[in-house]
Amino acid sequence: MKVFKFGGASVKDAAGVRNVAKVLSHFAQDDLLIVVSAMGKTTNALEEVVKAYRDGRNAKPLILALQGMHAVALEEVAPEDSDSATALMLSFEALKQYVAQPVQHEEDRDYDHIVSFGEVWSTLVVSAYLNSAGYANKWVDARKIITTDAGHRAANVKWEALEVNCATHLPSFAAQPHRIVTQGFIGQTEDGLTTTLGREGSDFSAAIFAYALGAESVTIWKDVPGMFNADPNKFPDTKLLSHISYKEAIELSYFGASVIHPRTLQPLQRKGIPLYVRSFIDLAAAGTTIDHLSDHDSLVPSFIVKPGQLLISITPRDLSFVVEENLSGIFKLFAARNVRIELMQNSAVAFTVAVDDTPRARLLIEELRKEYEVRYNEGCALLTVRHFDEATLDLLLEGREPLIEQRSRNTARYVVV
Ligand code: ASP
Ligand code: MG
Repeated sequence: MKVFKFGGASVKDAAGVRNVAKVLSHFAQDDLLIVVSAMGKTTNALEEVVKAYRDGRNAKPLILALQGMHAVALEEVAPEDSDSATALMLSFEALKQYVAQPVQHEEDRDYDHIVSFGEVWSTLVVSAYLNSAGYANKWVDARKIITTDAGHRAANVKWEALEVNCATHLPSFAAQPHRIVTQGFIGQTEDGLTTTLGREGSDFSAAIFAYALGAESVTIWKDVPGMFNADPNKFPDTKLLSHISYKEAIELSYFGASVIHPRTLQPLQRKGIPLYVRSFIDLAAAGTTIDHLSDHDSLVPSFIVKPGQLLISITPRDLSFVVEENLSGIFKLFAARNVRIELMQNSAVAFTVAVDDTPRARLLIEELRKEYEVRYNEGCALLTVRHFDEATLDLLLEGREPLIEQRSRNTARYVVV
């Protein structure tokens, strides 16, 4: 069994959906589990639905626009499949009904419930098309397999539940090969509440399925031909990383390389399942292989820029030293609010962190202020250079005065304005 993952950009319209079959034509004999995320910018649009619903505005026009887009795509790729058209219509009705009710739950729970529809719709369209194009497959609700805790918007997987879930809920097949089409990004609590794994979480879903099934490999099909040493849209002369280790890939994605979701690598590493990052446009391109071999790890400098950072300085009101008790209290607040610390540094009286500038982070600042003196800079960027040399650092920092600088043997990191 191979696991494939198609992101939103790869299935943004009918042409994208058809291209999935083109990719599959190269794997006609393989058992496949195909993870698909929401079409194009659907998740963003559904976030607007959440906002409208929570603010008491009418969310229906937003939903109707999404319905139009999906119905047109399905009609284009699988006009004969009336069962799928009905399933799609019923799913839209369910969402309309949900937002017609007064708000009664906590926001993150509504968020997960509402945005999860995007993956359901896209997989209905893709599965219908593949069936009509001769790639017989079964549609599976990923929530039946991926059990999580109730940490809405960043749920944690219950790994121990996977095996039984697969045995109970994966369909049986008469025909060969076995193909399953399922959703990325979404899971479900034991009580049946929908959860999500965090934005861009479909890569992670693919890894979870691969882990659960002991798959031979995972392939993430992208609009770029692999992982590069820097974002080709931001830097000139970028180089393809054709073969890197899990460890290097984890470091790169941890520091913000946006090609793979940072949580994707751990489950694959645990079972030694290789990950391929390949182009869904250029099927002949080899792409990037990520596995346990580190002898290929490229030592060319890799750059990662993470914009939209808040640099927050936290000082005890009595100027007491920032010691273990303070720090553990501060870390607890970050964990409780689910705010990830991108970089941290402490001095005698201040603990400084860089975090993504999100509404949660802003709420956390208010909470911290009850106990601490808190100052922050907004509009910062975090620069990370793996395998740096002085020349690249000089070039990168030209005309910039870093607010924070940290260097280890392999990695240099800066917070700049
Ligand atoms: N559709 C979700 C998102 O856009 C998950 C994903 O694409 O990986 O964040
Ligand atoms: Mg997406």
